[in-house]
Amino acid sequence: MSLNHPDFPNKARIAENVRAVQERMESACARVGRSADEVKLVAVTKYARMEWVWELLELGLIDLGESRPQQLVERASLLDQNIRWHLIGNLQRNKARRMLPLVGMIHSVDTLRLLDSLERLAGELELRPHLLLEVNISGEEAKHGFAPRDLIENWGKIIAFKHLSVDGLMTMAPFTEEVEETRGVFRDLRALRDKLVAISPESVSLPELSMGMSRDFEVAIEEGATMVRIGSILFEGLESDDQP
Ligand SMILES: *Cc1c(COP(=O)(O)O)cnc(C)c1O
Repeated sequence: MSLNHPDFPNKARIAENVRAVQERMESACARVGRSADEVKLVAVTKYARMEWVWELLELGLIDLGESRPQQLVERASLLDQNIRWHLIGNLQRNKARRMLPLVGMIHSVDTLRLLDSLERLAGELELRPHLLLEVNISGEEAKHGFAPRDLIENWGKIIAFKHLSVDGLMTMAPFTEEVEETRGVFRDLRALRDKLVAISPESVSLPELSMGMSRDFEVAIEEGATMVRIGSILFEGLESDDQP
């Protein structure tokens, strides 16, 4: 970025944190014989101050994730950079029209109704948005996402949408005492992807698996994640912020 942005306490920590995360990503890839460039780091900025976001951009991270559509819209209007915005949180249908022209990818598409709305809007706006379908693998009631069975049952309908690019699946593992216990969730998401591909025409490949957060991204990478969504550990050691 060419603009001069204000310094803030512990600014150098962000670069250190980013480097540490990238090294851990590389090690996880190496452990399972994957190439490091198969996994994209999406920096989740939902709790980050704007100056922290600027610093991420300075460091060359251009994939940014926000969970609230409103904050994504606001930040997209302040930052006219070459940013790829990822919406990772719940999208209400009445916010979709504003969101579509701004986002590079929506990770959190979780109902057929939302897919129907997005299909109609995308046709109208002449866009072809990149989407991931959020899956509730663990079956926790509080979680958003398709039940695996519903996805399979409705698959014919989903792949028939003409204006949507469904690129893969996303999930969130439950919080567990032992991070190793998340492995089954990630493995199941990948198996579900393979199953959906197997029942699809050849043109459908679902390459993306968005799984893994600060706590569990290494396990997710070992199980095939192509995108990890990481927030809190990028900002460790910085003054925390009260904005949601
Ligand atoms: C907040 C959030 C993340 C990042 O979580 P951290 O634990 O801060 O890395 C990832 N995915 C989703 C859907 C989130 O809401």
